[in-house]
Amino acid sequence: MSTVSLFRKWRSQTFEDLVGQEAVVRTLRNALSSGSPARAYLFCGPRGTGKTSTARIFAKALNCARGLMAEPCNQCSLCRRIADGSCMDVLEIDAASHTQVDKIREFIVDKVHFAPAEARFKVYIIDEVHKLSTSSFNALLKTLEEPPAHVVFILATTHPQDLLPTILSRCQRHDFHRLTPLEIRDRLTLVAREEGFELDERAADILARSAEGSLRDALVQLEQVATFAGLSIGEEDVRTLLGLAGRAAMNDLVSAMAERDARMAMQRLDDLVRSGRDLGRLSNELVDHLRCLLLISVKAVENDLLGIPPEEMAELEEQASSLTPARIMNWLKAAMDLQGGARDAQRARLLWEMMLIRMTVPEVDLDPLEDLRRRVARLEAGYPAPRQGLPATAPAPSPPEIPGPPTRTGRRVPQVANRQTSPAAQPRAECPGPSDSSPSGRSPGKTPKGPPDAQESPSKVLQDLGWGESVRPAPEKPLGFGPSHPDPAIPAPSSSLRAAGSSGLSAKDAWQRLLAFVKDRDRRLHAVLVEARLNGMESGTLTLTFPSNFSWHFERFQKEAEALDAMAREALGEPFHLVATLETVAVDAPSPRQEHRAFVHRAENLFSGRVVDDSPV
Ligand SMILES: [Zn+2]
Repeated sequence: MSTVSLFRKWRSQTFEDLVGQEAVVRTLRNALSSGSPARAYLFCGPRGTGKTSTARIFAKALNCARGLMAEPCNQCSLCRRIADGSCMDVLEIDAASHTQVDKIREFIVDKVHFAPAEARFKVYIIDEVHKLSTSSFNALLKTLEEPPAHVVFILATTHPQDLLPTILSRCQRHDFHRLTPLEIRDRLTLVAREEGFELDERAADILARSAEGSLRDALVQLEQVATFAGLSIGEEDVRTLLGLAGRAAMNDLVSAMAERDARMAMQRLDDLVRSGRDLGRLSNELVDHLRCLLLISVKAVENDLLGIPPEEMAELEEQASSLTPARIMNWLKAAMDLQGGARDAQRARLLWEMMLIRMTVPEVDLDPLEDLRRRVARLEAGYPAPRQGLPATAPAPSPPEIPGPPTRTGRRVPQVANRQTSPAAQPRAECPGPSDSSPSGRSPGKTPKGPPDAQESPSKVLQDLGWGESVRPAPEKPLGFGPSHPDPAIPAPSSSLRAAGSSGLSAKDAWQRLLAFVKDRDRRLHAVLVEARLNGMESGTLTLTFPSNFSWHFERFQKEAEALDAMAREALGEPFHLVATLETVAVDAPSPRQEHRAFVHRAENLFSGRVVDDSPV
């Protein structure tokens, strides 16, 4: 390998050769062809995207001995001298090392009025111009205001937002975008071929993606990997150099998250750490993986624009199809928190573990009020809200059975009336909102009309609600930190849950057994099924409900109903049938504020308590 770095050796010498940035190139070429270039240009964009290369090509084209042309000849002495940096009329200044005003005066302000010695234009290329001090800016500003006709300024910056508006307004601005992985990969392949490297296609892909749009970084990394791998560069060489885990590892990790399998997720993380992967880079990989999943899942872009090899794409598409965009978005946010999270390895690992547990055991993240809300909602899913003045000895109200909506496979299933599925089944007056200020004071909890003993204990209230004598005592532990599903402290929402099938299994046991079986057999189907809530079991039929925001899962369930029935038969050892409904959201849904007030009232009633503070915890 030559001693000149690959990046310098393969710097673009013509506009034609420049990678990406077609819009910038077109405008500059037009200016050259028209013979009237602007006096000052501002090239903005991330590092390694071709700003200084473009500036040099432009300087050559302005001064080429063959005349002002859309492309420099690269043959004449001026072109060659500009290329090797020996032309005294083309000055390249790194603002980072010349921040003082004296230097700017010395290099630019004092000399700008002298005519060029040999070239057509004096060209000043100021790199990282945002690093100039304020006084340097001011000195430069005067020159920029009225530059002599023989001078062209090209300012380059990665931080245009740091420039004074007075500078911005005096320059013709061009924005350089990050190169796509595809553009970088093609360039790497070309360079490797010309340099005599055997660069594996996958290795080129990984290098291109990890360079994050910077061709310079990609070429520097190619050079590094060639230094230790020799002329034949494989996928594993690149992964080792970059400390990357790879797509397969990300697939495994995300699968564990999808299945809410905390143990598996921890195991995967441990494997990666043991194999020497860097957690910082790992979080970048996870973010990239989840971003791809999200884009695929909402079909936001054509998949081939993601620059992912076809064999990896198939697996990504499959994974995306088993997840909701909302869930992927949640993970993406959590993974992005990891990126900026930790500098030292110990803390980084802790943050990773916390993230994985949060994603696989959602209960740990609930605040107490939210948990209470869920519990009340679950109770209400089976029974109407408590009525006022209901005598303790009154016959327990039984939930009215109404025919549920036909499922999409045409099955009609009995459905328990609840607030969400049938808003009419429950009078709105029982959920007083702020507008409910009638003098009759129907506000429950504040002016209870029932006998005092009806308010004595949660279990008493539950009995009144029809939970029967076998009701278990109220939870002793602080609210909110136990598992929310299933919760042994709360009785099953329907008596049919306790009904034994002909196999003698309780509904809950049958459900758990089925879930375990499906998880073993088809992990994607399991990911669908875990989002359903068990309603009950009757004569060989398990009835489920999907929450209203899980319509995708519901549809998937409908499509796979036959397969699921077959699995149920196999898992439970007798013909079993699964039916599910999708919760619908009430059309006249109360406002969040109303809902909150109503919820607090219901909680007060249910637990015979008085809320002293319902502000978010
Ligand atoms: Zn030339």
